[in-house]
Amino acid sequence: MSTARLKINLEALAINWRNLDSRTNCETAAVVKANGYGLDAGRVGKALAEAGARNFFVAAAEEGIALRRALGPGPGISVFSGHMDGDAKLLKDFQLTPMLNSIDQMLRHFEALPGHPFGVQLDSGMNRLGMEAGEWAAVREIALGQGPVLLMSHLACADEPDHGMNAFQLKNFRDMTEGCDLPRSLSATGGLLLGPDYHFDLCRPGIGLYGGAPYDGALPVVTLEVPVIQTRLLAAGETVGYGNAWTAQRESRIATIAAGYADGLQRALQNGGIQAYAGKTPCPVIGRVSMDLITVDVTDLGADPEVLTLINEDQTVDRMADAAGTIGYEILTSLGHRYARTYSA
Ligand SMILES: *Cc1c(COP(=O)(O)O)cnc(C)c1O
Repeated sequence: MSTARLKINLEALAINWRNLDSRTNCETAAVVKANGYGLDAGRVGKALAEAGARNFFVAAAEEGIALRRALGPGPGISVFSGHMDGDAKLLKDFQLTPMLNSIDQMLRHFEALPGHPFGVQLDSGMNRLGMEAGEWAAVREIALGQGPVLLMSHLACADEPDHGMNAFQLKNFRDMTEGCDLPRSLSATGGLLLGPDYHFDLCRPGIGLYGGAPYDGALPVVTLEVPVIQTRLLAAGETVGYGNAWTAQRESRIATIAAGYADGLQRALQNGGIQAYAGKTPCPVIGRVSMDLITVDVTDLGADPEVLTLINEDQTVDRMADAAGTIGYEILTSLGHRYARTYSA
C-alpha cells in the first residue's frame, strides 16, 4: 500500500487543551474550523469535548453540520462568518450560534431567526470581520436587547507579544464592551499567551491545540509516515528528478517515497533542507518535490527503509513551515486527502 499515514495523537491534543486551559481562569473553547485544521473536526471535537471543552468555533455554518453530528446536542458551536444569506435553516437545524459581524447580518438574523442565540463580532482594529465602534454604538442598545451570548473580537498581532497593536486592540475592545455585562472573548492562542488582561471570559485557541506556534509548550499532535516505493543505486554524477535538480557527488542510494505537493508537501520544501527520518536517523530530502513523489538520500543508512517519516517531534509542522516559507497553520490545513488518517487516544 502506497498511501502515506497521518497519525493524529488525540491524547496530545487533549493535553494541549488542558495545558492552555490551566493558564487562564476563564473558559477555554476550541477552534475547529477548516475541518479541525485538517485533522477531522468531528474526531478532534469529540476528543476536546471529552477533555472538557464546552464551546467550539467553526468558520462557516456548513462546517457545523459534521461537528454537531459528532458532538451531539450539548456543546455550543459558534460560526465566525456569522449569519450569511441562506444560513438560517442550517443555524436552526444544527443549533449553531452565528457571531454576527455587521448590521446587515444582525437585521437578517433577527428577522429570520428571532430568539435564536447569537454573538456579536466587534472590530477592534484588524479591519477584517466585525462591527466598528461607530456601527456598534448605533445598534448596541438594540443588540443588547436581544441578549447576545458573547461579544468577541480578534487580535491581529498576538503572535508578536511586544507589538503595540495588542494594547491598542485591548483598549478598543474594552471601550466597546465595558458595561455590557455579557461574556466577552478577545483571544486566540496568541492572545491567551499574552496574559490575563487578554483573557476576559473565554479564550478561543486553535493552532496551539494542534501543536503549533506561537504555543512553544505544545505537544506535537501529528506524525506523517510515507512508504518507500523504490530504492536505487546511483553512480557519482547521475542526477535525480525533474530539472536534474540534484546530482550525486558520490555513489548514492536514493529512496522514492509516496507523497508530494498534491498531498500538501509544498514544492517550496525542496529548498528548505528538510529531512526524512528512518526512525531517529535523518536523511536529506533531495531534488524536486513532484506531485506524488519525493526523493531522499538514504546512502548513509546502510539499509533500505520501508517507510520514512516527514513530520515528527524532531521535524515539526512549524519546522516544515519554516522550510517552505509559510506558517504551521498552512502546513496543517494543506495536509492531503490521500493520507490514511489514524487516531490514537
Ligand atoms: C482562527 C481563529 C481563531 C483561532 O486562532 P489560532 O491562532 O489558531 O489560535 C480564533 N478566533 C478567530 C476569530 C479566528 O479566526
